[in-house]
Parts: sequence; C-alpha cells; structure tokens
Amino acid sequence: MDRRSLLAAMGATALMPAQAKQKNVSAHATGWQNWSKSLPPQKAQIVVPDDAAALADIIRQTEGGVRPVGSGHSWTGLVPCDGAIVKLDKFNAVGEVNVAAQTAWLGAGARLKDLSPQLAEKGLAFRNLGDIDVQSLAGATSTATHGTGRALPCLAAEIRGVRLINGAGEAMEISAQENPDLLPAAQVGLGALGILTEIQMQLVDRHKLHRRVWFAPYDKVLADAQQLFADNRNFEFFYLPFSGMAMCITHNITDAQDMPRAHDESDDGVMQLKALRDWLGWFPYLRKKLLAAAIAGAPEEDVVGESWQLLSSARNVHFNEMEFHLPVSEGLDALEEVRAHIEKNRSAVFFPFECRMVAPDTAWLSPFNDGPRMSVAVHTHAPDQYEFLFTEIEPIFRRRGGRPHWGKLNRFDATDMRAVYPQFEAFAKLRAQLDPAGRLLNPYLRDLFGPA
Ligand SMILES: Cc1cc2nc3c(=O)[nH]c(=O)nc-3n(C[C@H](O)[C@H](O)[C@H](O)COP(=O)(O)OP(=O)(O)OC[C@H]3O[C@@H](n4cnc5c(N)ncnc54)[C@H](O)[C@@H]3O)c2cc1C
Repeated sequence: MDRRSLLAAMGATALMPAQAKQKNVSAHATGWQNWSKSLPPQKAQIVVPDDAAALADIIRQTEGGVRPVGSGHSWTGLVPCDGAIVKLDKFNAVGEVNVAAQTAWLGAGARLKDLSPQLAEKGLAFRNLGDIDVQSLAGATSTATHGTGRALPCLAAEIRGVRLINGAGEAMEISAQENPDLLPAAQVGLGALGILTEIQMQLVDRHKLHRRVWFAPYDKVLADAQQLFADNRNFEFFYLPFSGMAMCITHNITDAQDMPRAHDESDDGVMQLKALRDWLGWFPYLRKKLLAAAIAGAPEEDVVGESWQLLSSARNVHFNEMEFHLPVSEGLDALEEVRAHIEKNRSAVFFPFECRMVAPDTAWLSPFNDGPRMSVAVHTHAPDQYEFLFTEIEPIFRRRGGRPHWGKLNRFDATDMRAVYPQFEAFAKLRAQLDPAGRLLNPYLRDLFGPA
C-alpha cells in the first residue's frame, strides 16, 4: 500500500504530491525561476487552477506547501517552495465595475498591461503605475509596488477589497462590507494570508499625460529635486553613473492633442552604457567624457498620450535590483552616498540609479505607512555579481532609516522587519490565524514569520 492509500485507510487527509492529477487544474513541469534568474530553478510544479474550488483543493492537499506567483518579477524568496507554485492566469477578468465610485473588482492574476485598456473602455484608469506593467495585479500589490509622485501612493493603497482562499482553504472576503478591520493587513499581504482571486481597486478617470524627458547636470538635479517633486504630478530621475548627468522625467495631466512617442530607446541606451563600461571601465576620465558626449546627443522627449501608455515601458535588458524607501529628508543624501561609493569602488556598474517619491498609506506592511518616502534603487546587469549590494550599499540605506522594497534584493530578517514595522507582529498573528498549518509558508516566509 502506498503512503496516500495508507493515510486514506487510516482516515487521515492525504496530502497530494504536486504531480497528482486534480480536476479543474492544469499542471506542468517547472524549473521556475524569477525574471532575472537570480533565484535557483525550482522543482515544484506550476499549477493553474480553473476556479476558486480547485484553488482551495490545491491549498488543502498539496504536499510541500503552496506559493502563488504572478509574473515572477520579484527577487526576494517569496515564491520558491517544494510543493506547488500557483498561477492565477484564469483569474483575469474585469468583474463588477462601479463607474460612479470609480471602483472595479478585477481578477487577481490579470496583468496590469491587459487591465489598463479594458479599464479605459469604461472611462477609468489606474491612478499611477510603476516603470513596467507586466506584473499581475496581485503580485504587484502584494509587495507594495509603486511608481513616483509626491501625492501618489503605491498600488496596494488603492485596494478597497479582496477575495481570497486562505491557508486553511476557506473562501474569505475582506472589504468595506466584510472583515473591514483586516483590509490594511490584506493590502500588502506577500501572499502570506491567502491566495487572492479578485481585488477591488479604487480607480480614477481615464486621463492623458504630458511626458517630458530631459538631461541635466546631476548636481543641479539634486538641488532642484524637491521642487520638481512638488511641481509635477510624477517626477523621477535616473543618475547615469560615472557621467555627472541625470535623466529627468515628468508626467502631468493634460487635455492636449496626442503627440506620438518615438520608439522607446531605453534598452539601447542601457547597452550603450554597458559598452562604455566594457571599453573604458578603467579610464574614468575618458568614460565620463564619452558619456557626456553621448548624453548631449540623446533624444529628449515631449509627448502626450494615455497615462498607462506613457508611465510604463519595457525592460528587456535583465538586471538585479536593490531599492530602499527612505525618509524624504534622507533620500537624496543616501543617493549621493551610494553614487560616491560606487564611482570610487565599483567601476563595473553602468545601470542608472533611480530616485522616486511615494505618498503615504495605512497598510500594515507598506513601506510608506509612516509618511511619504523617497525610493532609491541601484541596478546591476543580470550576469554581473551583485553581492556588494548587500555588503556595501544596504548598510548605507539601513543607517539612513530605509525600508526595503518587499520584492527587491535585501537581507532584512525578522528582527530587522520587526524593528521598522510597528504592525509586523499583528500581521504575523493574523497570518497564523488564517494559515494555521503554514500551508502558504516557504523557507523565506518561515524565517520572517516563525516564532518571535
Ligand atoms: C524589470 C522590473 C521592473 C520593476 N519596476 C518596478 C517599479 O517601477 N516599482 C516597483 O515598486 N517595483 C518594480 N518592480 C518589482 C515588481 O513590481 C514587484 O516585485 C512585483 O511584486 C512583481 O509582480 P509579479 O506579478 O511579478 O509578482 P511575483 O514576483 O510573481 O510575486 C510577488 C508576490 O506576490 C505574491 N502573489 C502573486 N500572486 C498572488 C495572488 N494571487 N495572491 C496572493 N499573493 C500573490 C507572491 O506570492 C509574492 O509574494 C520591478 C521588477 C522588475 C523585474
């Protein structure tokens, strides 16, 4: 008698291996890795449930635990597990829309880029988006994905309700009508409270944006940054390492005529930065001179279009990234310290550093729940080593009161998280209530939410 029949004969609930055939589920072999391939290939199968009942069965019955995945665009160990990696690709519909309240129930597995045009048909749009929009709605909100804008919060802050299957395999709604106290916990949930099937989002009127992109000396941008954040709906800038120059981007609402955007050349630009690094990494003076010449000839943008078509763009050159969210008073100094350190010690770096601002919200695990924060990000080309981000860059961010992006490289452990999130313990307690057997825990989350 095999183990499953033995357990069944004993009247126990047998845990199914991920390979087991279930109704209303498609499963395929994996080797799953995240987008940059910084995480090792996984043995767990990828399973795609057709409906909530099948999802509940997977959570209750899969041996080795279950983790939801969106587009796999996170670097932290949130997804790897031994049992099943669950994709919510079939949960991708636009559900009930309340045009007057500008809210909509949206499939949790839907990609942001697929939702935007459907929302536009109903006269609605996301208030803000990040650099890319290929993430799933649940994946993006679960790690507090953000764009930039002094008055614009992260995407999770726009959640008005969620429907989920919790770790015990039970369906739950958390919204203004049901379990409203739990909403701030569910907004940034890391996939640790349950697997979200639908999310009710607060939206805004469909709108057009005027996008401007220009280059300016880095010192001037640092001096003007606070004003630029104050004067523009969306402002961000990228420092081009070893160049002394920054690229500034603003977006503001407009009714002006569309002005089409030329082919997005940002990937080509990154590869030019790489070429200069490869040829001239050891000759910083020459590298700076050639960078300045290249930047002087770089096209600036002045275009008008639909918000979602301008805010996000493709990122085809793969990289690894660390981003910390800093108190606004520390952000620019942190960036400057990182710049000075890298230009002195790390000539291999060529990806631009990014600086953004995010408005506050009230989600328990939102990095922005104690006031607005300035987000500073450092990227390294995927094939390059990035250990120095942990040993040399993270200490700068830590010293200045930074909270790490939940999806991006960091070495914060449970003690560190407890120290920076007053509601961490409350979240851990709720997690244990909603998933008493730890069905949704993997090694990364067990380390975070294990016993204090
Ligand atoms: C090229 C690139 C650009 C990026 N740009 C930005 C940016 O501009 N701003 C920013 O803030 N971040 C950015 N990120 C980070 C990215 O937005 C986050 O890591 C986000 O979580 C990825 O979404 P995903 O759909 O790939 O989710 P995944 O990485 O697959 O999963 C993220 C988390 O969501 C959970 N999850 C997924 N689906 C569900 C579900 N149905 N129910 C419950 N939990 C679920 C997972 O378990 C995991 O904990 C970028 C990443 C990359 C690679």
